[in-house]
Amino acid sequence: MSERTLVLIKPDGVKRGLIGDVIARVERKGLKVVAMDLRTLDADTAKTHYAEHSERPFFGELVDFITSGPLVALVLEGPRAVEAFRALAGLTDPVKSAPGTIRGDHALEIAENVVHGSDSPESAAREIKIFFPDRF
Ligand code: GDP
Ligand code: MG
Repeated sequence: MSERTLVLIKPDGVKRGLIGDVIARVERKGLKVVAMDLRTLDADTAKTHYAEHSERPFFGELVDFITSGPLVALVLEGPRAVEAFRALAGLTDPVKSAPGTIRGDHALEIAENVVHGSDSPESAAREIKIFFPDRF
C-alpha cells in the first residue's frame, strides 16, 4: 500500500545548500519524489498550511520565517511515506533529534529545523492540495 506525504525543505535548508542532502536521504530510503517545486510562499498560503498553530505564541514568527525566502515543496510516495519521512527528519527540536536524522545532523534551533513533513495521511492530503492543487 503506497501513501503520499508533503515535505518542505524550508528557507533555512535552501539557503544553506541542503536541497541535495535532503533529496539524497529520501531517495536512499526508497521514497519516490512524485512532485517538486521551488517557490516563495505568500503569507496567506503559509497561514493556511500552518493553520493548526494559529493560536500559538510563535505563529507570527513561523509565518515570517517560512515566507522569508524560497523553499522546496515535494510530494513523496512510498509505503508508510508519512511515518518514513518523519523518521528521516527527526524530532521537532533539533537538539533532541538523533544524529543521523536530517534535523539531528543539520540544526540547533527549533524555528529553523530544515524540513517539514506531514504528520498524518489526513494532514498530507490537506497539505498536498495546498501546494499542488491540480496534480493529484
Ligand atoms: P513539526 O511537525 O515537527 O514540524 O512540528 P510542529 O508541527 O509542532 O511545529 C511546526 C513548526 O513550527 C516546527 O517545525 C518549527 O519550525 C516551528 N516551531 C515549533 N515550536 C516552535 C517554537 O517554540 N518557536 C518557534 N519560533 N518555532 C517553533
Ligand atoms: Mg507539524
